[in-house]
Amino acid sequence: MNTHTMTMEDFRQDFLSDHPAFDDHEQVVFRRLPEFGVDVIIAIHSTVLGPALGGARLWKYPTKAAALTDVLRLSSGMTYKNALAGLEFGGGKAVIIADPQSEKSSGLLQAFAGAVNDLEGRYISGEDVGLSPSDMDILAEFTPHVRGGTKGPAGNPSPYTALGVFEGMKEARRFKFGDDRIAGLTVSIQGLGGVGWLLAEMLHEAGAQLIVSDIRSDRVRNAVTSFAATAVDTEESHRVEADIFAPCALGAVIDDETVDDIAAPIVAGSANNQLAGRHHGQLLAERDILFAPDYVINAGGVICLACPEQPRIEIENRVRSITLTLRQIFETAAGESLPTNVVADMMARRRLDAHAERNP
Ligand code: NAD
Repeated sequence: MNTHTMTMEDFRQDFLSDHPAFDDHEQVVFRRLPEFGVDVIIAIHSTVLGPALGGARLWKYPTKAAALTDVLRLSSGMTYKNALAGLEFGGGKAVIIADPQSEKSSGLLQAFAGAVNDLEGRYISGEDVGLSPSDMDILAEFTPHVRGGTKGPAGNPSPYTALGVFEGMKEARRFKFGDDRIAGLTVSIQGLGGVGWLLAEMLHEAGAQLIVSDIRSDRVRNAVTSFAATAVDTEESHRVEADIFAPCALGAVIDDETVDDIAAPIVAGSANNQLAGRHHGQLLAERDILFAPDYVINAGGVICLACPEQPRIEIENRVRSITLTLRQIFETAAGESLPTNVVADMMARRRLDAHAERNP
């Protein structure tokens, strides 16, 4: 009888290939940090364009299976995001399965840095939900494979992400209604964290009325006070009458349950993986709702992380150019009767294929 002994890594990779969110990922690393009782998963989706750049998310997932699905989806999204933003980076992502309120510590971040170091630069980490620029400062003490932090013009990516979303909203308005004025619009923002709060500030200054929700009541209260915003329950934010719905919390907010209830004619926000499945983009298109593909409109942060040496003004100009890509996507989608998310995927794959052909 022939037997073949697989390494644990081959075994995992083989089993992973059946996972619904598996997208030919190059490598998925599982690491247990027993001293913290915490599991880490790092997914490298593609290094075709360069080292896999993508944030680490520290979140208390309900199950490890949910964390695996998230990291697989987020990491392939990073490949497409970096490709469409014209960056020489591939796509990867990490999840640290822990409670950001009670389990985050510098020891945990140091242990995570060890897992990043083991990948010898194939994965470069940044911040994501549950981690802050000052957490990146701690990580940088233990690994060189990190971007962001509190120092330098390109330290904190959130302002650039918020800028890209703000400009992207205007582009969506211009395309759909021929008018990019923000003053007088109503925008429903779901999630008032690093990006959502800054976006709220920009929209408020531009004269928009805000409807806000967050699971953190302190943030909601602050927004009500600071921006004269109207607070709604988190489950209501997509249902309320608004000109734009801006998901800025976690992913998969547009699913079988919510898609028919979205009241706004435009969906444009920072959250990664807003669509629970690709077909939800089609359902939005059928309802004549213009969806700004998340990994295109939210690329401001990674643009800033990819160009840390550039002056702020140059990074901002590059972030503003997201609107050109969005416009191309909107026009192609309208011309070919395709959902915008499908067009974005096609454009990103074309860039990856062209690069692979030039560099066999
Ligand atoms: P954050 O952790 O600072 O903020 C997330 C906010 O969402 C928190 O206030 C949290 O309480 C809230 N929240 C969580 N679940 C919620 C729910 N069900 N309803 C309403 N609010 C909820 O994260 P962030 O950096 O602001 O990122 C927000 C989203 O944008 C994430 O999906 C992230 O992946 C994406 N994103 C962020 C950046 C960046 O530069 N920070 C870049 C690209 C994409």
